[in-house]
Amino acid sequence: MLLLLVIGCSLTSLTIWKVWSSRERALAEVDVHGLNLTQALNTYTEGIVRQSSLLLLGLVERLETEGDGPAQIQRIQSLIDRQQPLMPQLSGITIYDRHGHWLMSSNRPIPEGANSSDRAYFIHHRDSPSREPFIGPPIQSRANHEWVVTISRRFNDDAGQFAGVVAVTLGVENFLRVFGKLDVGQDGAIGLSYTDGTLLVRYPFREQDMGRNFSSSPIYAKYLVDRSVGTASYTSSLDGVERLYAFRKSETLPLITTVALGKDEALAAWRIEAALSAVVVAGLLGLTGLIGWFLILDIRRRTEAEEALRDAQQQLLASNRQLELLALKDALTGLANRRCFDETLAVEARRAQRDGTSLALLMIDIDHFKLFNDALGHVAGDACLQAVSKILEGCVRRPSDLVARYGGEEIAVIMPATDSAGATVVAQLMLERLQQANIAHPGSPFARITVSIGMAVGTGAQLDSLPALIQTADQALYRAKAAGRNGMAGQA
Ligand code: GH3
Ligand code: MG
Ligand code: MG
Repeated sequence: MLLLLVIGCSLTSLTIWKVWSSRERALAEVDVHGLNLTQALNTYTEGIVRQSSLLLLGLVERLETEGDGPAQIQRIQSLIDRQQPLMPQLSGITIYDRHGHWLMSSNRPIPEGANSSDRAYFIHHRDSPSREPFIGPPIQSRANHEWVVTISRRFNDDAGQFAGVVAVTLGVENFLRVFGKLDVGQDGAIGLSYTDGTLLVRYPFREQDMGRNFSSSPIYAKYLVDRSVGTASYTSSLDGVERLYAFRKSETLPLITTVALGKDEALAAWRIEAALSAVVVAGLLGLTGLIGWFLILDIRRRTEAEEALRDAQQQLLASNRQLELLALKDALTGLANRRCFDETLAVEARRAQRDGTSLALLMIDIDHFKLFNDALGHVAGDACLQAVSKILEGCVRRPSDLVARYGGEEIAVIMPATDSAGATVVAQLMLERLQQANIAHPGSPFARITVSIGMAVGTGAQLDSLPALIQTADQALYRAKAAGRNGMAGQA
């Protein structure tokens, strides 16, 4: 039982440990996968931004050396027309003068009175002397309402004053197309944001998230504070889905790439494996339990059967003993029966011959017992027979002496190693005891129960014939009767 319990416990704990470690492994794999994706996406984004920056640098160079007159703008326009097919991510290039008026737009005619002086990138360049490229927040194109991210540089006039802005617009659509080719599952998401938490692109696309600031989300508030690469796991405050996040800050640009995978989805395969393990182990445990149960039942049944067998054996032995006793005892008086008398006489006669000792035999017969029965009935006769038996039995002392019911109301006494003097003492004692008992006998001349006793004593060859010994005792008994009863007679 204990063994079964130990097996069950260790099997269960082993399985739990195995399932748990495989879960940890699955999560670690997801983290590695996420980090690899952020690396790839980061490289991709940096490439696009670098290309755009180079393009802008060339344009700024031209505008600053050749000026922004209509002829120059015309030349730039034709240059861009040739360059644009080489950069499919590019949705357009626009040049603004110092007041935000459009000087040129790469792929469409300039709208009437178009002015972008209110755009963040324009304000940035106008107010900051920095000549570095600026990645602006996502904006919705005024012309076609398409979401775009801008990368821009300022150009100066000969005096070194602000002369305008050249901006490259990258369609969010293009990013989404690339991001969409990556499998991040149903609950997954890919994000590209500014280091201040402003979201530039998110796949899957959600209009309401565009340009939103996520600086309060755990990634920015907690993880990106002291690290530039890492993984995290938390429940999104937006949709309540728990995700595993991998994030990477660009080394050269103020950009952060984030890849998020749904934890439930990531663990789906593991969950199936765990369920399978649980089913198999539960089955095994059940089977072990069942076998153990049957084993215990079998053992219990066997011990029960053994006990029953032992009981039966005991009972049999007891009844055998009972039977043996019954076979040697007289039912009415409790004395030895005739069979026992015969066997004992034969054994003792042989022993007496062997030992050279004498064997005494008393034959006792109740006087006028027929009259007793006639006067008081057979039931009283039986009771009287029992009482007399008890008294006579009490007169012998040696364990080897045997008092037996010879038949009817006749009782015989075998006394090994006893001579006639010894036997006479016992016979006299019997007569005396009966006198003391004084059992009333209405039909007797003595008015009480008396017996007559015949005695025979044999040694050696005299014991060759037992019937002769019995007959001698019988004859003595007869003489005792003839002599007036209530007395004893020895050998003639
Ligand atoms: P006596 O021996 O003195 O000559 O006279 P008796 O009347 O005893 O004569 P006998 O020994 O021949 O009679 C035996 C009687 O003892 C016969 C029967 O009525 C009675 N008897 C023998 N066995 C039993 C017994 O088991 N129970 C009872 N109640 N009576 C018995
Ligand atoms: Mg008789
Ligand atoms: Mg008699």
